[in-house]
Amino acid sequence: MKKKLITLAAAGALLLSAAPLQADAVGNGPNYGGNETINTSILHTYSELASYLQKQEAKQQDLELEVIGQSVKGRDLYLVKYMKNPENPTILFLTQQHGNEQLTTEGALEFIKHLGTGKMKGVTDNVNILIVPMLNPDGAMGDVDFSLDDYVASGDRHLTRYNALGVDLNRDHVTKIQPETQALHSNVMQKYDIDYMIDLHHQGADRVINGDELVSGSILYPTTPNVDQEVLAGSKKLGAVVYDAINPKGWGTLGKYPGGSAETISRNGIAVEYGISTLLFEMRGMSDHNDPNRVLGQKSNGYLIKQTITTLESTVKAIADGSIDSKDTSFWDTLPEQTTLPSEEDE
Ligand SMILES: [Zn+2]
Repeated sequence: MKKKLITLAAAGALLLSAAPLQADAVGNGPNYGGNETINTSILHTYSELASYLQKQEAKQQDLELEVIGQSVKGRDLYLVKYMKNPENPTILFLTQQHGNEQLTTEGALEFIKHLGTGKMKGVTDNVNILIVPMLNPDGAMGDVDFSLDDYVASGDRHLTRYNALGVDLNRDHVTKIQPETQALHSNVMQKYDIDYMIDLHHQGADRVINGDELVSGSILYPTTPNVDQEVLAGSKKLGAVVYDAINPKGWGTLGKYPGGSAETISRNGIAVEYGISTLLFEMRGMSDHNDPNRVLGQKSNGYLIKQTITTLESTVKAIADGSIDSKDTSFWDTLPEQTTLPSEEDE
């Protein structure tokens, strides 16, 4: 057993310093994980995100910034739009329904910057892009009506999965009771003719395929029996674009997310309600949590942000040039479903 753990730790080190799975690491502050600090102050705060988006809007002629509603605590919720031609196919990227899953937003912000440079020149002529970054800003800022005292990260704030009222927004896509979910459905989902959507999340840092191979992320299409077959086929093609862009990278190892069929989550609910081809992408490790096995040290930030940027850029390009339509989706049949590494405590 001990030897296996050492091997896993070595594999983790190759994946840019995975935090060892130590049950006693909770609340150790700067010594967290035995080798690093998880400092949340390096992430964009909500107000830094707002001014970043406003600056990009001023710089980029094709970018339109819209406020789609307010969070429980009154923070404006933003939608970034590139909508040159309503006849073009449209993709939506959604980040941070869960406030403690922030590297997806960091990647989306970088992607928005790239859309204003020569690197992505011409792509918005052929695809409409909608981005809702940080749907849960109250959770992201730890501005919530419940205690975060046992969360492990240090820095100027804690980040939590739930919104200010302690509700999981990604279980609210049928009833749509929370203001954040309402804003998304009323002012984005129901307002635009969206073809594809990637819902970006973070999962625990301890997920593996093939027994002990740590994954950089996991993906999944809608798995409710009520999804239209054509919509499902589109989701699988979207996944194929992402897989082919990420998996060959030295840092990229994707597994299949073991997801259920509940339509309260966006991957299933939005696919059924609006006929949108959805894809869930779970990046490795969260920005903060009260469970240390879910959090990943900030030395991993670089490759996880890159994983998000690569995902967003590869999919808009494949939709813009139409190559998504002929994508081979057979990899899904052999993509290993991820499992959770047993922690030392469990063994
Ligand atoms: Zn999540």
